[in-house]
Amino acid sequence: MTTDQVIDEFKESGALLEGHFKLSSGLHSSVYLQCALVLQYPAKAEAFGRAIAERYVGQQIELVASPAIGGLIIGHEVARALGARFIWTERQDGEMILRRGFTVRAGERVLVVEDVVTTGGSTRETVAVLQALGANVIGAASIIDRSAGEANVGVPRTALATLNVPSVDPAQCELCKRGEQATKPGSRKAIGSKP
Ligand SMILES: [Zn+2]
Repeated sequence: MTTDQVIDEFKESGALLEGHFKLSSGLHSSVYLQCALVLQYPAKAEAFGRAIAERYVGQQIELVASPAIGGLIIGHEVARALGARFIWTERQDGEMILRRGFTVRAGERVLVVEDVVTTGGSTRETVAVLQALGANVIGAASIIDRSAGEANVGVPRTALATLNVPSVDPAQCELCKRGEQATKPGSRKAIGSKP
């Protein structure tokens, strides 16, 4: 799967919008990504999962682990394609942890999978949790890397598509300087949804 194919799938699903956006971080960007909109189609999720898995064939991945919520669907599909087990980490009081009785064997070969890497924070924390439990974290993968390849998660990292779309402080935003109003996608309820 090429970068262009990945981007086309996102655009078709409305998961990648171009314009002037206020992100949940408060920063402004000309690109808005909402992976959930493409991953709502299981066939697309499966195809992305297979494409990521292909890069790790032969690396004896025994376990795929993802930070919830963003990594759940794609991580599960990667695990299915690799014939691996799948677990997730989640935040409790701000700290990324393993819950629900999930365990990791010492030396278990793990791939960490996220939907989008922006700063790499969630992936990095998940890698650290697994390493602290003795796992052998082979690498980390995402569908999209919007850090232009810059995010460091502590292990080798790959992405199906790497974008260079800076997120900037509103005070430094060129689009704001031109007087264009930033919008916040996803903040409106869908028309026709029940109250
Ligand atoms: Zn702006």
